Amino acid sequence: MPFSNLLMLRGTPAVKIYISGLYCGPNPSSGVGVARSLRLAYPDATLIGVDYSSRSSGIHAPVFDDVWIQQPWARLDLDAYAASIRDRLEPEDSFWISCLDLEILWMAQVLGPHPRLLTPSVDALDRIAKPAVPAHEGLPVGIPPFISTTEQDWTLNAFCRRHGWKIWLKGPYYDAVQINWWPSFLSLRAAFQSTWGTEKLFLQAHVRGLEESVSFSAYQGRLLDAVHMVKRDITPEGKTWGGHIEDPVPDFLNPLRDIVSALKWTGGAELEMIRSPAGELWLMEMNPRFPAWIHGATIAGRNLVGRLVEAASGIPMRAAERQSNEFARIVVEMPVRAGYPIPPLQEPLNGSQHHSGKYPSGMPMLAHRLQAMRNHERPAVTVDPEPVSTPAIVPASFIEDILGADLDKVQTPHRILLPRTAARSFNQLAVAASAASSSACAVRAAYSIKTNPDERLIELARNAGFLAEAISELEVGQALNQGFLPEQIILNGPAKAWPNPTVAYPVHAIFCDSVDELRQVVQRIASGEDLAEFIGVRLRGPQLISRFGIPVYSRLIFHEMIELLRELPQHVRLGCHFHIASSNFGIGQWWRLYDSSLRCAKSIESCTDRSVECVDIGGGWFPDDFESELVPKLGDAVRQAREALPNLRVFVLEPGRAMVQHSMAVAMRVLEVRKYMGFPQDIVVDGSIAELPLAWQFPHRILERDCKTGDWQPMPRGMARILGRLCMEDDIVAPNVQLRADIKEGELLAICDAGAYESSMAYTFGRGKSNGL
Ligand SMILES: *Cc1c(COP(=O)(O)O)cnc(C)c1O
Repeated sequence: MPFSNLLMLRGTPAVKIYISGLYCGPNPSSGVGVARSLRLAYPDATLIGVDYSSRSSGIHAPVFDDVWIQQPWARLDLDAYAASIRDRLEPEDSFWISCLDLEILWMAQVLGPHPRLLTPSVDALDRIAKPAVPAHEGLPVGIPPFISTTEQDWTLNAFCRRHGWKIWLKGPYYDAVQINWWPSFLSLRAAFQSTWGTEKLFLQAHVRGLEESVSFSAYQGRLLDAVHMVKRDITPEGKTWGGHIEDPVPDFLNPLRDIVSALKWTGGAELEMIRSPAGELWLMEMNPRFPAWIHGATIAGRNLVGRLVEAASGIPMRAAERQSNEFARIVVEMPVRAGYPIPPLQEPLNGSQHHSGKYPSGMPMLAHRLQAMRNHERPAVTVDPEPVSTPAIVPASFIEDILGADLDKVQTPHRILLPRTAARSFNQLAVAASAASSSACAVRAAYSIKTNPDERLIELARNAGFLAEAISELEVGQALNQGFLPEQIILNGPAKAWPNPTVAYPVHAIFCDSVDELRQVVQRIASGEDLAEFIGVRLRGPQLISRFGIPVYSRLIFHEMIELLRELPQHVRLGCHFHIASSNFGIGQWWRLYDSSLRCAKSIESCTDRSVECVDIGGGWFPDDFESELVPKLGDAVRQAREALPNLRVFVLEPGRAMVQHSMAVAMRVLEVRKYMGFPQDIVVDGSIAELPLAWQFPHRILERDCKTGDWQPMPRGMARILGRLCMEDDIVAPNVQLRADIKEGELLAICDAGAYESSMAYTFGRGKSNGL
């Protein structure tokens, strides 16, 4: 006689509930909490814990009458497993509550809809997919900006810059890591793709704030109950370790009821949110199951799990008792269940934790199997096929300029100047600067020579009416050689006089990098030297992590600086320089720091009793951001500076990278095509990281020449690599491109965006020559 029938004989209606997902570490599944709540609602119920590894520690929880441990997902015969689940759910009093998102998806696909499978349908799951959560319409929540990682790298990099590199990389079902620069994104993307077997990951902007959740329970579209939980304590990973339970506000509950009804939702769910300091709610994700803290709600007298089984079985549950509105988590040792000894620890793989450590219930394995099902066994179940990426569009002038270079005869690798592309950015800024100028305040651009000291670029800068910004006496010499006058030169940086202290004076402006330098400059001026029209200071605010500038947040140092500035003779004009790399901080942050720098300049005015007459905002802009975010707001920026500093006469920008990054490309030839099963997998080229020293730091657009037509085409992203010619592990020119099936030795590629530090920092290596240093 089946076990459940035996229970029926006792006379009280009993239920048997399978609960899967029992891991109970610091990032737990909810199975144990679900079972504890059910035990209170149905003391006589038979609770069977299901998992896919004996490492899921919740199998030892005494709340389970029995456990049913499966083979790992990779080995499980899914059809047979589905059949045996169907058998077990045959009796009217048997139910299944899954606490594993991917298992829920699989069950919905192969078993659903089923009256005793207490999880949502495939359609409902589609409507809550991350990150857009289409079903959220109507709730008073926003969705933080996101982008799919199937977009081109160029676009992804722009997204990250725009959001100040406060970015999360997230998997389609699980996993989220914060990334703060491009190389970490590349390696984590590769790791996530291999863990989850998909390219469909996404990047999402970070939202500041504190986490809270709403969990609800519903049966066939009827909302049974909902609670609002505010985290009171968290683990280092940000998981709940204590919380406060309250009622959701009506403005939330009413639209939620409509959503549950529209989705015909069955089962538990959790909406994970962040409340910003301004009080706005941002929805991070909506999970198709009860949260791991669900027993905390039961402790507060709201047994959501019990309500679900009650609605599904029609058997009244025991009323929940409110013990406290707050719950804490504690660590408790449990006897190991007889017959389920914990296997010995495995040595960590390459020092890192293996998946089975992080996901004992084997979700990555199931993800791979679902992926395989999607690709072969069952065409298009719910999720779209893997996307095909379209290559990044390059500006037409790149191709025109490259066509203008006669590459058939040149020895590669060869750096090509893109003359029209380069001239365009200098001229565009010159036009914008003159538009923002007024009779009271001139707006000037100064080209940063160190960014790329190529004579042709310096010439373009001079022709466009730029000043020259130099960081050494050698750079000053170069500027003078190319026709700049001393009064068109700005001196900056920590070692202006290197290697010889003789330069042509007076220059336009000198910005001192330290109080010590300022003291020397003040002494030289006092002894009668005419050094510059403007003497300024480079400011380092408390928000900047920088080795440069005077740390004005130190009261002592600020005071010392003020005393020195007050000693300057009246005919010397004061200037302030700040350099905030928007490419690292993000554009919003740049404007905030700009604002606070102006306030600092203003306090210099009031403390010295003199006017600050020159503001210089430095460089550090990525070309696209400079063009789309700074140049259009240049007029506003100047107005803002003049409001703060009424006697401002000169406003200077010092772009380097923004002018020239896209002004050069490196042409290289394919030396070898390496095939795997007939398809090109890697190519070795005659270029290398010696010509592209920052190849790993930001994405570069790549063009390939069709050897028959001579046309240049953008190269899409893919799984192949462009390997450099150097015998060095890190000489990878591009880690993820798509190669044409017929690519051949001798074909030409052009790696674009190589005109800034890619050019000035290139080095001689592997050529049988010493580099002369
Ligand atoms: C290097 C440098 C610049 C230019 O920076 P980019 O990142 O190339 O725009 C501007 N000003 C100073 C003082 C610099 O040292």
